[in-house]
Amino acid sequence: MILWVHIRRSLGEAVLHRERCIEVPSTPTRSDFWEGGWFEYPDKETALEALEQSGVARQMKCQLCKP
Ligand SMILES: [Zn+2]
Repeated sequence: MILWVHIRRSLGEAVLHRERCIEVPSTPTRSDFWEGGWFEYPDKETALEALEQSGVARQMKCQLCKP
């Protein structure tokens, strides 16, 4: 199961999404570690680890797809 982490450093938040969430863009824009963006992970464990290590103040799970 592919998961996505959406990091928005300007807002200080990161959100975990499932692969098929409607919020995941069909063509994710280029991701930049310093600015944020959409990051793809092959499993939930790796995605959660990335979420923890993102360093942003708020780490959330999407309310729509509830990964
Ligand atoms: Zn979602």
